[in-house]
Amino acid sequence: MSSTDPTRWTAAEMATALAGGDLSAVELTRAHLDRIAEVDGTAEDGVHAFLHVDADGALAAAGAVDAARAAGEAQHALAGVPIAVKDIMVTAGVPTTAGSRMLAGWVPPYDATVVRRLREAGLVSLGKTNMDEFAMGSSTEHSAFGPTRNPWDLERIPGGSGGGSAAALAAHEAPLATGTDTGGSIRQPAAVTGTVGVKPTYGGVSRYGLIALASSLDQGGPCARTVLDAALLHEVMGGHDPLDSTSLDAPVPPVVAAAREGARGDLAGVRVGVVRELDGEGYQPGVRTRFTEALAHLEAAGAEVVEVSCPNVEHALAAYYLILPSEASSNLARFDGMRYGLRVVPEGDAVTAEQVMGATRAAGFGDEAKRRIILGTYALSSGYYDAYYGSAQKVRTLVQRDFAAAFAEVDVLVSPTCPTTAFRLGEKLEDPLAMYLNDVATIPANLAGIPGMSLPVGLAEEDGLPVGLQVLAPAMADDRLYRVGAALEARLLAAWGGPLLDRAPALAAPARAGVPA
Ligand code: GLN
Repeated sequence: MSSTDPTRWTAAEMATALAGGDLSAVELTRAHLDRIAEVDGTAEDGVHAFLHVDADGALAAAGAVDAARAAGEAQHALAGVPIAVKDIMVTAGVPTTAGSRMLAGWVPPYDATVVRRLREAGLVSLGKTNMDEFAMGSSTEHSAFGPTRNPWDLERIPGGSGGGSAAALAAHEAPLATGTDTGGSIRQPAAVTGTVGVKPTYGGVSRYGLIALASSLDQGGPCARTVLDAALLHEVMGGHDPLDSTSLDAPVPPVVAAAREGARGDLAGVRVGVVRELDGEGYQPGVRTRFTEALAHLEAAGAEVVEVSCPNVEHALAAYYLILPSEASSNLARFDGMRYGLRVVPEGDAVTAEQVMGATRAAGFGDEAKRRIILGTYALSSGYYDAYYGSAQKVRTLVQRDFAAAFAEVDVLVSPTCPTTAFRLGEKLEDPLAMYLNDVATIPANLAGIPGMSLPVGLAEEDGLPVGLQVLAPAMADDRLYRVGAALEARLLAAWGGPLLDRAPALAAPARAGVPA
């Protein structure tokens, strides 16, 4: 371990230290709560990764792990390791808002399956992380509770929707975090914060208790600072769940074994396809430079790198922005002022249920949620359904066929995760289409249901900000992401002489936004 400060360790290193009795789970938890107190602040002056910090719950959970260890009980390898939970996952007794005023103050009566599995493995939840409202966005600026700031530069976005989870990792407020990825909300925040994020195969992680955005695209997954840590978390989160009818009835792919094998740095015999359509025009020069260098590292590891074409991925973004709003408009209909959270009753006598719904939805949803509800309702209306929703579904099938054809030639596909590094807070807020374009490379995997990983491959020379590389694999072959990702990570760490996050300027001296260091 390179540092005496345990918040700088990897989750795997923390697990080893806990098992060896070098420190207790309570001590490790306190170190992270202190770090949160030091850097998280508010949306105005800090990282603001957390919407709710559950210090008492975390210390109690850590105490229980320490007591069980002292009593000699068998424990999961990650028992006592802290984790931050995206606020889209329901947590019994702990507030859950999905970043929306609609759910402010709501305390769920049950745990999402993922959350239950984390608890059962003894992971210590530090609290709930900030996100774009109902996971709609690429910057966390659509959170009803103010944005999260990127620990690399507090005036920049940490990605979205899961910017809170990614920023918590990059700011060393937590070693592990959970995310959900409907069009990139795990991978894009990972890319712009220099962390690792994985969207598993659709159905690989239970959606039970994950507040739904677009049910045919949503997928929970792990966020971490290293590929191995992501694999360790993936194994805990994943697996069949009878409470989710789209959950895959199959074992979790051997992700941890693949990460350990990959870390040896040997990719002999692995065929890597570069997706021609996900590079080039519109991609920032520094993103392309780091991506091209990473390809050279893959070749040096013994992989065969070839170019492949997936012509229909160019239409994926357009199809996504019909399918997602359609499903979202249907899922969000449940927020009606009758059953959950906010209820706004207009003034006057004889107020109708419809008026209550109207007033509640007007006050409870932010602009982006309203925009997508209106778009989705329109796309699904009779007369337009075939032209919009129906056509988008056909494009979805074509994207799936493109990937199937590509995977007949290669084992994994790669691309830059996003066209640019982290943009400035406010830069794309008034231009939804510019914001949507940031997900051009991540969205195709959700349409096809295939797994994807983003891992850091360096800093863009023009702005010194992290660049992510995306690896895609066929459905149920999530382990390939980890093998290739770990091999690339091992070579890059050797080239850099240490983790990329050690070079994050705002972390070395966690200056508050707007306050000169
Ligand atoms: N940024 C994308 C969107 O706005 C993806 C969101 C997500 O994956 N939840 O829809």
